[in-house]
Amino acid sequence: MLPTAFVFLACYIAGAVWLRSGALAGGAFAVTLYCAALVRSHFLVKQGRPAAATRVTGIWLLVMIAVGAPFLDFLYAALLLIPLAGVALALPYAERPELRRYLIAAFAVDAWVMVVHLWQPLHFEPLPLLLQNAVVTSAVLCSVGLTMRLFWVDAQRLRQSLRKAEEGLRTREEFLSIAGHELNTPLTPLNLRLQSMEKRLNASPASDDTLQALRDVGLMRRQIRRLSDLVRELLDVSRLSAGRLQLDLQVVDVGALVRDVTSRYVDDAAKAGSTLSLQFEGPVTAVVDPSRFEQIIANLLSNALKYGAGKPIHFSARSEGPFAQLVVTDQGIGISPEHQERIFEKFERAVPEQHYGGLGLGLYITRELVEAMGGAIRAKSTPGKGATFIVDLPSKRVRPDA
Ligand code: ADP
Repeated sequence: MLPTAFVFLACYIAGAVWLRSGALAGGAFAVTLYCAALVRSHFLVKQGRPAAATRVTGIWLLVMIAVGAPFLDFLYAALLLIPLAGVALALPYAERPELRRYLIAAFAVDAWVMVVHLWQPLHFEPLPLLLQNAVVTSAVLCSVGLTMRLFWVDAQRLRQSLRKAEEGLRTREEFLSIAGHELNTPLTPLNLRLQSMEKRLNASPASDDTLQALRDVGLMRRQIRRLSDLVRELLDVSRLSAGRLQLDLQVVDVGALVRDVTSRYVDDAAKAGSTLSLQFEGPVTAVVDPSRFEQIIANLLSNALKYGAGKPIHFSARSEGPFAQLVVTDQGIGISPEHQERIFEKFERAVPEQHYGGLGLGLYITRELVEAMGGAIRAKSTPGKGATFIVDLPSKRVRPDA
């Protein structure tokens, strides 16, 4: 594009000097302005500022048309408007708000081109036909070149940011996986030690000291479980992102599993001041990975305890066509409608950090697990009145050939 513009400029200057033509001198002036803009934009691209380069080239293309139009025939001047369309098409790829401003400028130039040709006193002697052809061709070529460069620069930028984003993601996943494993290693022996200490304390004669020590051990075990849960979330996220989730699908009794998991949370519920009630409509079966299903129940229950502390929590299950439906209802703080979808995304939370701890991963993992088992999960809530989580899971095995 740059060399083409300079060849045309040389032709203009040579023609203007040779023929001593005022019209050619005017044309040469217009093209000089544009060439200067092309040089500037060339350096802007080199500095990594493609949007600025496009802006400069686009604006000066308009200036060239405005300055050069009086020296052309009306038809040729009108033809010059074609490049405007090209540039206008290309600009959205740089920055959208600019397109609007550019179009306004383009229409102003359009009006100017029409005025200089309709208003007789401004009518100059037109350029020779050959040069008029050259002007229009060069302007069209310039705008096509501009458009193509814009596409190219844009594609480059897109590829670069995609590469960076992928690298960032990979590093994060690696970090999560390593950190998760490292954090997990000391937790298992620590828990075992505390368990045996608890046994010894239970076997020793009761005294104030023994009771206090038992209370301390209980607190430590609960904190360790919290830590293990967080570490498990981190490991699960890295497993899910790497597509390393393995499921062992079996037909399970939903009621039995819910009863089993909730019984492990009786102490936590008592501490939170919440009562747990269960209701199952007949035998409800689901085809799930039992340990993963337990994790789903535990996640929903610990959220209900965390965000609905002091209020009753209700579990119910029933068969709904080809699905087993599990519903967990609390009467806690609830979730406003705009957050009800978002909370199922990675690291998304709808509560202030200083009031409720957590990583914002539990529901993301829960949804991923439910979907991996062929089900769906959704939330319903009235803010301030509680939240209901509805989980649908297949109640029959789906044969691959079915
Ligand atoms: P975490 O609880 O660690 O923040 P989750 O992924 O389990 O992460 O939950 C995401 C968000 O969804 C929470 O931060 C909270 O804003 C909201 N949330 C989840 N369960 C409930 C609930 N039972 N009641 C109200 N809000 C909830």
